Amino acid sequence: MNEGEAVLHICCAPDATVPWRTLADEGLNVTGFFYGNNIHPIEEWERRRDAVIKLAGIYGMNVTTAEYNSGEWFDETALLADEPEGGKRCAECFRLQLSAAAKFAARCGASYLCTTLTISPRKNPSLINETGRAVCESLGIGIKWMPRIWRKNDGFKASAALSKSFGLYRQNYCGCEYSVREAPVKSPKGDFAVWERRAG
Ligand code: SF4
Repeated sequence: MNEGEAVLHICCAPDATVPWRTLADEGLNVTGFFYGNNIHPIEEWERRRDAVIKLAGIYGMNVTTAEYNSGEWFDETALLADEPEGGKRCAECFRLQLSAAAKFAARCGASYLCTTLTISPRKNPSLINETGRAVCESLGIGIKWMPRIWRKNDGFKASAALSKSFGLYRQNYCGCEYSVREAPVKSPKGDFAVWERRAG
């Protein structure tokens, strides 16, 4: 296991702007890991993947993107289709995303694992951090979970500003097919206040 090596689970490029740079500034060698099996449809997954690769280039960081296998994600969440955003389906979705990231961290020999998910104002950071800790412990090889809450100290606002300055693609729904139904209609004028309030 390599001290100083960390894996950052990346849900999307805008959410990674602040965490990726912050962890690197703390002296860690941070490899990004984009999972994305929760994202629907594949064209949207491609847009988000390409944005993550673009951000990696801007920051000069390494990144790995998993193969797209949405069937696996749908199988695991099928019985939770009617859950509202923020409910049990999201808890299972976090577990699937972070389990995949923990396995990747194990393959890399990384000592630490963190996620970008806690920058979103719409997600439960306690649940995300509990899930991350549990998946790391379940591997039993000593990967340490980094329980950050990135949205603190205006982290989300900072991520929105950085995304805009880098010209990163930003989505208006969380990711899965079910979350599309809860997506806002994007302002025709590109009203950033509306976008920022509901995105991520
Ligand atoms: S709304 Fe987001 S977190 Fe919840 S299940 Fe869908 S993709 Fe996952």
